[in-house]
This record gives sequence, C-alpha cells and structure tokens, in this order.
Amino acid sequence: MADLFDVLVLGAGPAAAAALIGLGRGRRIGVVTGAVSDARVHRADVHPKIRTEAEAQGEAPGLADPIAIAGEKRPAFATAATGGLGNYWGQQFVRYAEAEPWPREAFARYQDYQDACARIEAACRLDEANGPHGAREAGISDYLAASPRLLVGTKEDPRAGLLAIRALITRLVAAHGATLITARAEALVAAEGGWGARLSDGSTVFARHILLATGALGTAGLLLRSFPDLRAVRLRDHAPWMLYTRGIGRHIRTVRPRPAPPSPTRHFNVQSLQRDVDGAAVLFATAYNLRYARLNLVLATLLGRSFPALASWRMPWPADWITPVQVWTAATVTTVELRRDQPAAVLHLPDPAQDGELARFIAALRARRVRVLKTSATPPLQGFHYHGVESAAAGGVQTLAHHLADRCGDAVCCVDASVLARIGCRPPTETAMAGALRRAAAISRGGSGG
Ligand SMILES: Cc1cc2nc3c(=O)[nH]c(=O)nc-3n(C[C@H](O)[C@H](O)[C@H](O)COP(=O)(O)OP(=O)(O)OC[C@H]3O[C@@H](n4cnc5c(N)ncnc54)[C@H](O)[C@@H]3O)c2cc1C
Repeated sequence: MADLFDVLVLGAGPAAAAALIGLGRGRRIGVVTGAVSDARVHRADVHPKIRTEAEAQGEAPGLADPIAIAGEKRPAFATAATGGLGNYWGQQFVRYAEAEPWPREAFARYQDYQDACARIEAACRLDEANGPHGAREAGISDYLAASPRLLVGTKEDPRAGLLAIRALITRLVAAHGATLITARAEALVAAEGGWGARLSDGSTVFARHILLATGALGTAGLLLRSFPDLRAVRLRDHAPWMLYTRGIGRHIRTVRPRPAPPSPTRHFNVQSLQRDVDGAAVLFATAYNLRYARLNLVLATLLGRSFPALASWRMPWPADWITPVQVWTAATVTTVELRRDQPAAVLHLPDPAQDGELARFIAALRARRVRVLKTSATPPLQGFHYHGVESAAAGGVQTLAHHLADRCGDAVCCVDASVLARIGCRPPTETAMAGALRRAAAISRGGSGG
C-alpha cells in the first residue's frame, strides 16, 4: 500500500473547503486537488463566464473529462482546479430559510444548519450591503429586492475575490498539515479492510475514510469508472431562464448604493428579486449590470469570441441598454443521464411555456413597463447548480448516499451537492458547504457522515 491517510479528500472546491473546516485536527489528511489540465478542452466549448474569468486569471479553464450530450454542440465538463467552479462563479453566498430545503438528512435541527453556515462564514469575507442576512425591501410588485450577498474574500485575504475558495483551501491544508496531491482520482478501489483511490499519476492512495468532494459531474464520472456494473448515473441541474430586458434599471438601481470605483466589491450581480410563499423562495432572479461586466464576457456571450489581450478590461462604455436577468423557479430543473461510453441523454428539459411562475414574473415586469426582449433556456448542464446524483444498475436506481453505503459501508462518503436530493430556487453552494462541513465533522467524531 502506497500511503494510508485517516481521511482522503478528493477534490479542492467549495465542498472540500467546508469539509476541511469540519475535520478535527490531529488527523492524517490527504487532499487530491484534481487540478490537472486536460488538453482535450477546447476554448470554444467552454462557457463564456468560465472562459473569460480563467483568461483574466491568466490560466487555462480548470475543466477536464468532457461529457458529450446528445443533441448538443457543447460538452459539459468536470472541474479541474483548486478552488473548483468557485474560481468563476457569481459569488452569491446564501443561507436558506427554515422553510427551504436545507439538508435535513445531515442536520437534526435548523439551528445546527445555521451554526454550520456561521462556521463557514467565519473563515470568509462577505459583502453584505443590505445586512447580514440580505434584508429585502419592496422591489417590483410582490418581488422583494436585495443586493446580492457576495463571497468576496477570506478572513486572511479579504480581497481574494474569485480566488477566495482557493485561498481557503491553501490555508486549511497548511493548518491541518495535510498532504496536497496534484492529480485526478481515476477510480475508487477496494482494498483489504478499506478503500483507496487510483490516481492519474499512477499511484494508489488508501484511507480509513474517503470524502468525495469532486463536484457532481466529477463525482458522477468517478462512480461510472469505479463501479463497472453501473449502466448510468443521473444528476439534476437547477438552471435558470435567461431574460433579456430593457427598462428594469430604474426599478433595481435603488437598493445597492453604487460603490465608487475601484471598489473590490463592485460586481455585475447588482440586484436580486425574490417571491416567497410560506417562507420559501418560489422564484429567485438576479439582474446583471453589463456596465460592470468584463468586456470579454459580453463579447463571448454575444459573438462567441473573446480576446486574451482584453482579459482585464471592464466594459469601456455604459452598457445599460440591456439587462440580463437570470430566473430560477421550481420548474427549472434539468435531469441528465450520463451513460457509459455513450453521449449523455437529457431526460427532462424545462419548457418556459409551461412555467406559470415565470409567466407571473414577466407579467409583473410588463406592468411596470419593463420590456422582455427574449427568454431563453439554459442548455443542459450549463446551469452549474448540480445536485441529486443517482446510480442506475440492473437492480434499479439508487441515491448516491445509498449506493455508497451499500458498496463501501462507511469508508466512502460524498460531501458535495451530489448528495442533496433537492435544492431551493436560491443559490445552493453555502448550503452544500454546510452539509459538507457537518458530514466531515461527523466522520472526525467517529460517525459515518452519511
Ligand atoms: C458561472 C457560475 C456561476 C455560479 N454562481 C453561483 C453563485 O452565485 N452562488 C452559488 O451558490 N453557486 C454558484 N455557482 C455554482 C458553484 O460554483 C458550485 O455550486 C460549487 O462550485 C460546487 O462546489 P463543489 O466543491 O461541489 O464542486 P466544484 O466547484 O466543481 O469543485 C470540484 C473539485 O473537485 C476536483 N475534482 C473534480 N474531479 C476530480 C477527480 N476525478 N479527482 C480529483 N479531484 C477532482 C476539481 O479539481 C475541483 O477542485 C456558479 C457556478 C458557475 C460556473
């Protein structure tokens, strides 16, 4: 046996960071980052936000393992970067309300979920222009408005921006004295008395506990490679509608005082709008002010082209003529099945015409003389709010937690959003991280984490 860790964390994104916060000290910990670039990633296939943020960071997009999707030109990818998709994300850091789907299988009480969120936030720096829990005020009709609550840095590096999760991982690895392994996990392998991971550098590492934090697409691929009897793995993506609007600006500019440039917190997520029913968001929308966006993001979105020489440029002219608004409702969940050696199949793709909540929102905008120029759906697996991984074998379909418990006992536990059967309409990552922290803490205390 090459190496034996108490805990081996596979992955180095937000879920891994939260797991490292939850793990007790004095353990022998290994972290496999997965940050190995993959030459098969073509620039043109990469989502504009990921491509342009990676260019601004002077790096190749942190993606690997392309997943072809039947009927789609662009593949999806697993993540391959320390910091994970956190290197490119929208930075909205949201705690769920008690009526929303916080991970009830991981926490006995809502207060325990809140405590886990507080522990994560203590390691972070948040921009909370509207108060610690995103106080909301009258917006459009009964859609309450708030400034997005953003993760803008870490406690040690408050200006880390998009590199906050990477900074957090680096600090936590040092604090634990953990071994950092720059490789990808090829497959889980059973060994006498435990489990290990076969890595892309040719080594195999063993551990008493393996925590899967490889992001839902990374986790799905790892499952297929590890269990040859699986015929497919399914997962869900809570992806938004994209509305292109004109005239919404006069309704949404009022909440966040526009920070004077060059503020580190100036962000093109300028406003969220939300409708609650019985304490849970049934619609969550984010409006973007293109004036604060990268020039390359606008070019890549409109023309499909970006230019590395312009990587650090913001929009050089006021661009309020059009306001993109992303809208999540309960209906916007796509289900995709990754099939062994075949293109992935889209099992369910939402239809804007069938979404009553979307129609209600558009009517409210039009009543305020906001024009909705275009409504489009997000292509499969381009929404990045992945969750709900299930395995499909001859014996039937199982949730990931059941699959791992059946095959690996308590030696392998998934801590990323793959194990969340349901997420809310609001951004899920802080909630997924709270679940990861709780599961890792349970393992540290000698429990199963599952
Ligand atoms: C453009 C964009 C905007 C977003 N906006 C928001 C937002 O505003 N708010 C929000 O809550 N969420 C947002 N998200 C989603 C958020 O980024 C993800 O929910 C979050 O990053 C998931 O964390 P994770 O750790 O589970 O997975 P990932 O971030 O995907 O990280 C996975 C990690 O596992 C590693 N890995 C993968 N495969 C392997 C392997 N085989 N072996 C070893 N390691 C591996 C990768 O290198 C990476 O370190 C956004 C995402 C994108 C792309």
